[in-house]
Amino acid sequence: MSESIEYPALYLKRGEDQRLRAGHLWVFSNEVDVARSPLTNFGPGDPCAIVDHRGKPIGVGYVNPNSLIAARLVSRGLEHALDRSLIVHRLNVALALRERLYAEPYYRLVHGESDGLPGLVLDRFGDVLVGQTGTAGMERLKDEITEAVVKVLKPRQLWWKNDGSIRALEQLTSYADLGFGEYGGETLAREGGLEFRIDPVGGQKTGWFYDQRENRDQLARLVAGRRVLDVFSYLGGWGLRAAAAGASEVVCVDASATAVEATLQNAARNGLADRITAVRADAFEHLKALREARERFDVVILDPPAFIKRRKDMKEGRLAYRRINELGMQVLERDGILVTCSCSHHLARAALLEAVQQGARHLDRQAQALVALQQGPDHPVHPAIPETDYLKGFICRVLPA
Ligand code: SAH
Repeated sequence: MSESIEYPALYLKRGEDQRLRAGHLWVFSNEVDVARSPLTNFGPGDPCAIVDHRGKPIGVGYVNPNSLIAARLVSRGLEHALDRSLIVHRLNVALALRERLYAEPYYRLVHGESDGLPGLVLDRFGDVLVGQTGTAGMERLKDEITEAVVKVLKPRQLWWKNDGSIRALEQLTSYADLGFGEYGGETLAREGGLEFRIDPVGGQKTGWFYDQRENRDQLARLVAGRRVLDVFSYLGGWGLRAAAAGASEVVCVDASATAVEATLQNAARNGLADRITAVRADAFEHLKALREARERFDVVILDPPAFIKRRKDMKEGRLAYRRINELGMQVLERDGILVTCSCSHHLARAALLEAVQQGARHLDRQAQALVALQQGPDHPVHPAIPETDYLKGFICRVLPA
């Protein structure tokens, strides 16, 4: 017989259990019956039993009284405590998927809610893991997570890259440091037969964007012998993959000097230096300069940071997508390929395509969407949580009207 966990109860108001029962994992603060279970009775990250208004338990989760998302459900029923053994189980389930998908241990191992560990991201770079906690509940479980990772993966290092902007919503501080193992050695991402040196402390996010891997795979058949522009190139993921697939020349553009320098080193490491240049510049400004200089490319890749981080950025953000796509098309050959992406979960897929369409019409060109892009399968979408479906893109052909 399984025993029941005894965590303090977080009572929901009448009817507010429905979304959770339908599969969602979040409890918003206005859904909590604060007369029965005041949020002030909980500390940030405290475990709880989430209970409906009739007193029927839904499952085990954790609370943050300071966050709009007041609680997240981690496990249905009351059989499992929030402990190392639960995390070990979740890691093994997550690992089984990735081992089916990939021949080598380079992937996102845990994608938060979608892998049953709300607020936790773990990227794997061979024997180095880079983790991010985005909630007080996960931050509190860091020791248990570390022990579970060590047990399941026996890594050389586990880094915590805890500097994401979402942490502020949970009143968590920013830091990046080694959580397990010894300092030293390099960290490499492997993708498409190439090696990229990444920086788990100073890089973007966890250091690498595995979410675009399968999308970059799609480039191969479109770039051989072509001139390629990789805008918002970071470490040159798209650009180097294009060069490896036979592009005649690749220009990478990024605002970060460190990223540009690392791109050139990565190009040299993979024997692609002769075909890659990397420019430190603002993307909008540089595209205008290329347009004025009448430079043209066969393929233009636009993989910007999220222009819509909060819903209130919607109007300005949509305009930015429209502008960058129009600028991208202005440096495309008459029959060119535009790869356009958005990682703003607030931007609907259709709205990105609309940005392409509006830009094309404004330039009196005609776009054809050839391939729809989304995040790779090591970043599963949780069907009940639209926010987990964040990466959208299209490969388009852009012709004269
Ligand atoms: N394409 C990359 C990921 C891009 S992340 C990949 O496939 O891995 C977004 C990148 O945009 C970051 O490297 C950041 O330095 C850069 N960036 C942000 N704002 C920029 C701007 N205005 N102009 C140029 N680059 C910018």
